Amino acid sequence: MTSTDTAVRPDLLDFDPDAAIATLREWMEARGEPAYRATQVFGRLWQRPVSTFEEMSELPKALREALAESFRISSLETATRQRSTDGTEKFLFRLDDGQFIETVAIPDGDRMTFCISSQAGCALKCAFCATGVMGFQRNLRPSEIAGQVRALRMLTPPIIPTNIVFMGMGEPLMNWKGVNPTLTLLNDPRGLGIGARHITISTVGILPGIVALSERPEQFRLAISIHAPTDALRKTLMPVNTKYPLAEVVAAAKHFDRRVTFEYVMLGGVNDQPEHSAQLAQLARECRAFVNLIPLHPGGGMGFTPTPAPVITAFAKSLRGRGVETAVRRSRGLDIAAACGQLRTERLGRRTPIASHEDGEVHVA
Ligand code: SAH
Repeated sequence: MTSTDTAVRPDLLDFDPDAAIATLREWMEARGEPAYRATQVFGRLWQRPVSTFEEMSELPKALREALAESFRISSLETATRQRSTDGTEKFLFRLDDGQFIETVAIPDGDRMTFCISSQAGCALKCAFCATGVMGFQRNLRPSEIAGQVRALRMLTPPIIPTNIVFMGMGEPLMNWKGVNPTLTLLNDPRGLGIGARHITISTVGILPGIVALSERPEQFRLAISIHAPTDALRKTLMPVNTKYPLAEVVAAAKHFDRRVTFEYVMLGGVNDQPEHSAQLAQLARECRAFVNLIPLHPGGGMGFTPTPAPVITAFAKSLRGRGVETAVRRSRGLDIAAACGQLRTERLGRRTPIASHEDGEVHVA
């Protein structure tokens, strides 16, 4: 698909529901078709998704052909699909221009959480994150972000999410142009219909993005990657701290009108000492944040080691003892390199592309 092609035939998956329906209605009216056809077509994009106009069998054939001449419906090509022994599944998608992005589906009791990507690569270079190593490639469009959810729903059997977290590749608040309409597509009952409280945007603390998110009326959740309780340490792990230092990030969390979660990845001997829990507790109390302690996903050759489990437990206890609500996240998909950027990094390191027939079970060595 060339860029001229995209310009000539807009991708209907890039529009939020109001814009898509308005565009389709205008197009229908120009052809003397009834306006209800617009909502009918829109319903086949997200609610009962199909990959081509041809498959919209409830529409007259001539109309389907005319739609295909004016619009397109993009789809993500699955490059690899891996299943962890714990049921977590990881997808590597190939985009039109050859970029790769990752999506992880994490089952947990009644819940099915999708971890989705918002950028190909990432510019932020956090010291422990595999995505940072690749550098930034480009922002994803709504058709590529919400399209990850669509792709999993279109599998046989479909995988249906109850929750979405923007914790895949990229920094969502540095792609607000793509993420903003995506949030509508995910949440709107005419789109994917996922409750706003079940959608979490995770950020390193991009302040203008936090303001933009807080201006949305829906109750989307905000998670902030803190990872260190002092500027001196945080700067060494997260270069973005120079631009958006801790005090400002915590102030933004305090002003956010919904409760914020702090994410804190436990790095052995680096940020897991008793003084760190005391400092972190103070920051969390300042903005009433909930703390999620994340065991480091090893791999990616970043030179960090995971904090031993008993040390994580003691760290959590210390936070709770200081009045901070704390959860220790379970690592999922360890055997499939399911952390941010790890699958793509693995793939690029290989000499030959992984053929799609190599999909299947991956077991711990
Ligand atoms: N840019 C956003 C969202 C993507 S990363 C952000 O930083 O919040 C989602 C979360 O995964 C972040 O908290 C990130 O720090 C964490 N993460 C990255 N690599 C990890 C690893 N190897 N192990 C555990 N967590 C990791």
